[in-house]
Amino acid sequence: MQRRSFIAHTGLAGILAAGVAPAFAQSGEVRWRLASSFPKSLDTIFGGAETISKRVAAATGNKFQIQVFAGGEIVPPFGVVDAVQNGTIQCAHTAPYYFFGKDPTFAFGCAIPFGMNNRQQNAWMMHGGGRQLYNDFLKEYNIVSFGAGNTGSQMGGWFRKEIRTVADLKGLKFRIGGTGGLPLQKLGVVPQQIPGGEIYPALERGTIDAAEWVGPYDDEKLGFYKVAKFYYYPGWWEGGPELDLFVNIKEYNALPAEYKAILEAACHEANISMMAKYDALNPAALKRLIGNGVKLLPFSNDIMAACYKATQEVYEDIAAKNSKFKTIYDSWKPFRDEQVQWFGVAEARFDTFMGAASRLRK
Ligand code: CA
Repeated sequence: MQRRSFIAHTGLAGILAAGVAPAFAQSGEVRWRLASSFPKSLDTIFGGAETISKRVAAATGNKFQIQVFAGGEIVPPFGVVDAVQNGTIQCAHTAPYYFFGKDPTFAFGCAIPFGMNNRQQNAWMMHGGGRQLYNDFLKEYNIVSFGAGNTGSQMGGWFRKEIRTVADLKGLKFRIGGTGGLPLQKLGVVPQQIPGGEIYPALERGTIDAAEWVGPYDDEKLGFYKVAKFYYYPGWWEGGPELDLFVNIKEYNALPAEYKAILEAACHEANISMMAKYDALNPAALKRLIGNGVKLLPFSNDIMAACYKATQEVYEDIAAKNSKFKTIYDSWKPFRDEQVQWFGVAEARFDTFMGAASRLRK
């Protein structure tokens, strides 16, 4: 609309009264909607999207605004890929492995079982060719991705009864995120995909026997300890799950170069800041949970070994059928193997000694 006709239609007094400036006067203004897959109550993981939104606004003098919506507010938690793909929203903040039902290849942008820890995932994505491979895969969904958060190694979850042997897994209805359910299925588990905000009632009602979410801080907030007392570790299906900002490619390409750079930097900030927040908050939360009568237990070596074996079979099965998965897996696997060996030297010795030393100090 031309300025003259705009004024003619609304009247200059009307414009001033409403405080509305004609659109052409607002060059550089970009307004996006972001759908998170997470509930607002989780300041950690939902907070990743807020970090991005606040930084982008602050760095552009509020010209680039990203409005953040919680899971289910404008898009269902598991519907965000479709919404970004078809342009209903410009971007989403999510755990990409939720979409393994569309294609298991999605999970490389988050975590796959017996995969990498937070730092190793960053190493692969940022300096090991991972991001390029992953974005190549996402093109058919009109999506470009940015690493925008991590939870670190997760806990194995909340169980109503003890899980001592591999046989105890049989028939267990277990809410588990992402591809972790695939190897467990081979061992008799019935995996359940349930968004974070809906897990507690399912566990309380007994619709499910067990549930994993993230770690002590988030899990405490969601209240699982009130309905299941056995808290297992580690969540071997999530050694360092990455959260991503998924952006519609067309919308991204339409941004000025400065906004692209600012958005990327804000995602890097969310990536580091979320991990730091989890690390800062988890120790005290774990102490509180134990104080509430929670029984902290490691998965047995037998269970871990059976899950590891089942996982390798799952990867071989998927890679044989899915060339997109295979392309990334063939790059990912040797990178992970080298990382694990390297981390087994200085980091592992240091961490093991420090753990022992902290126990000695008591
Ligand atoms: Ca999880």
